[in-house]
Amino acid sequence: MSVTNRTRALESISTRVTPTYAAQDDGAAPIDYYGKDVFNAAAIRKYLSRGAAEKLLATIQDGAKLDPGIAGDVAHAMKDWAIARGATHFTHWFQPMTGGTAEKHDAFLDLNEAGEAIMTFSGNNLAKSEPDASSFPSGGLRCTFEARGYTAWDPTSPAFVKRNPSGATLCIPSIFCSYNGEILDNKIPLLRSIQTLKQAVARFMANFGATSEHIAVTLGAEQEYFLIDRQFYLQRPDLIQTGRTLFGAPPAKHQQLEDHYFGAIKPRVLNFMAEVEQELWRLGIPAKTRHNEVAPAQFELAPTFEELNLAVDHNMLTMEILKRVAEKNGLVCLLHEKPFAGVNGSGKHNNWSVTYGTRNLLDPGSDPRHNRVFLAFLTAIIRAVDMRGDLLRCSTVTVGNDHRLGANEAPPAIISMYLGERLTEILNQVEQGVDKEISSKTSPLRVGVVTTPSIASDDADRNRTSPFAFTGNKFEFRMCGSSQSCSLFNMFLNVAVAESLDYLSEQIETLDRDDEFDVKLEQILGKVLAQHKRIVFNGNNYSSGWVAEAERRGLPNLTTALDALKPLLDPANSKLMQDYGIFSSIELESRYEIFTEEYFRKIQIEGEVARDMALNLILPVALEEYGELIKTLTSAKAAGVSAGLSTLQRTVEEIGDKVDQLRYNADKLGAFSPVVHENCIEYVQTTKDLRKSVDELELLVDDRKWPLPKYREMLFIF
Ligand code: ADP
Ligand code: MG
Repeated sequence: MSVTNRTRALESISTRVTPTYAAQDDGAAPIDYYGKDVFNAAAIRKYLSRGAAEKLLATIQDGAKLDPGIAGDVAHAMKDWAIARGATHFTHWFQPMTGGTAEKHDAFLDLNEAGEAIMTFSGNNLAKSEPDASSFPSGGLRCTFEARGYTAWDPTSPAFVKRNPSGATLCIPSIFCSYNGEILDNKIPLLRSIQTLKQAVARFMANFGATSEHIAVTLGAEQEYFLIDRQFYLQRPDLIQTGRTLFGAPPAKHQQLEDHYFGAIKPRVLNFMAEVEQELWRLGIPAKTRHNEVAPAQFELAPTFEELNLAVDHNMLTMEILKRVAEKNGLVCLLHEKPFAGVNGSGKHNNWSVTYGTRNLLDPGSDPRHNRVFLAFLTAIIRAVDMRGDLLRCSTVTVGNDHRLGANEAPPAIISMYLGERLTEILNQVEQGVDKEISSKTSPLRVGVVTTPSIASDDADRNRTSPFAFTGNKFEFRMCGSSQSCSLFNMFLNVAVAESLDYLSEQIETLDRDDEFDVKLEQILGKVLAQHKRIVFNGNNYSSGWVAEAERRGLPNLTTALDALKPLLDPANSKLMQDYGIFSSIELESRYEIFTEEYFRKIQIEGEVARDMALNLILPVALEEYGELIKTLTSAKAAGVSAGLSTLQRTVEEIGDKVDQLRYNADKLGAFSPVVHENCIEYVQTTKDLRKSVDELELLVDDRKWPLPKYREMLFIF
């Protein structure tokens, strides 16, 4: 048998021993080490003077302006705390427009005037740093010769310690801007949008007699991912370079038996999950749910929801930790939206809500028909999603998500909202100015087993096909890609909702507070609902009928990424962003530049990797087989054998055919000039055509010689 790297990988996986589960801190319970590596309220109180601690906590918890006078004390305390945890370095941890995170470490170690080693970290070090900005995307905001960029401490997200086997680094969550103050990151717009939404909520709630309570925008980001053995990964240049498989024939069994979803978790995967959770818990990230997902080798991790800015940071860290711990366990975590063709891709379900004091504004309560705040808040969201759905769609653009949106497992590219029958009926009543009893649909479920405790059904079923679904007391935006930062979509959502709340507030503020108030309020809401209810769709979003229906309703269907990015250039959106002080028009346009540039570059990288692999890995193997078959055919003919000749002949012809197609498409890819708007679609199509010839060859060429790990191996063998 011929030995390929692929067979070596298989061999090494089959003999590997699952590492034994190493309990955290010698068996300590999660509650003992939860948040241990975070400079949280407990650490702040322990390491800072009482006055300074209260000031810092007021900023973190209540959004008070930070007293610059305490930066020195805070820095000192953070340093002592971090050093006690083994930290030798500190870094501003920020989120440039690459969509990832960035860090540049500095040692605490310095030399004093006498040349002796000391450990220093000043208030200045904490507050500000100056990384060279010239190598981060700016979309033309900044010329290369104006390289200066600043990172500045975001005190609302606590500092934390990131551990590595031989040390640790104090990480300070930070914003990132240019020398002239232009936004170069994903955090500043998010923070601005949170501020904006909170102001709008405060104004809105004042209409209902509520006085200033603590307001929080909340996010629970469910993270889907794939795991494969690292040995396989190392044999797949496409996975290494692009995060997805560019080739791979579909296996006979994939997910059609639906036997992976919620199945028993394999020990090796469970070990990995447990180790991830331990790391997350140490960092105060409340990982809560773990399970097998629909596709083979696909999984999900969901945390308990948190305040939005913190939840976004925590999701960035979660993605990093998933990847790192996977590697440690001989696995690779794939966060790409569509690593494998033909099976489900991965999303990031963005669960969003707003709390006012202890009240969740999206909680319908026991009598939603008469829950004025809930109805008005919901109406504002309906208006927001209808008016700014294009921005929400735009925020989900990634090269990977293109393969997911509209495929049969993910919401289509049309933004609509699911409310469920009961809420829809309530809103119809509001619109029509009637108030009739609505029967609750909750009922005891008849399970038919005496020993089972009695359970009640929920009020409304779920709709898994909706991109933006009301799920009881929050909205779940399901279009988001698994690899994305949560900042962009939440930023747009916050601003859109803020604008609609202000729109309602403006009208409600003119009403007299008399007996007529409720009726008049419903009239205002009714008008808005009449205008925007087209966005509500409770049916099957995957059906082809919906595409036609959505078109009839005038809802945009931005199927390609390039169309979906255009809303960034829309003057109406630009005005919204300027009115709310989020982006200048130049900053918004610069995002369009960055996203399209990145899109083209990634498309081209995929094409080039596919071409390299086709020519260097696949073609030689296919040609070798072709040559051998011809030799066999010739000697069979010479020997006067007749049986088998037609099979030999046909196989040679088929391989020859595919090889010609492969060469043709590879050459065609090679002849493209850089990918731009005009040739992008054709380039993508050629990459797909090339895949077709390679995948067909996979089914023809001797399995023992095929160099790439196959789908049936990567997705099933752990
Ligand atoms: P499912 O997969 O069934 O949708 P999960 O339990 O996996 O549900 O995830 C639901 C997510 O929604 C969790 O992260 C949860 O914390 C979050 N969530 C629950 N309530 C809120 C809320 N009020 N605001 C934001 N997120 C919420
Ligand atoms: Mg879930």
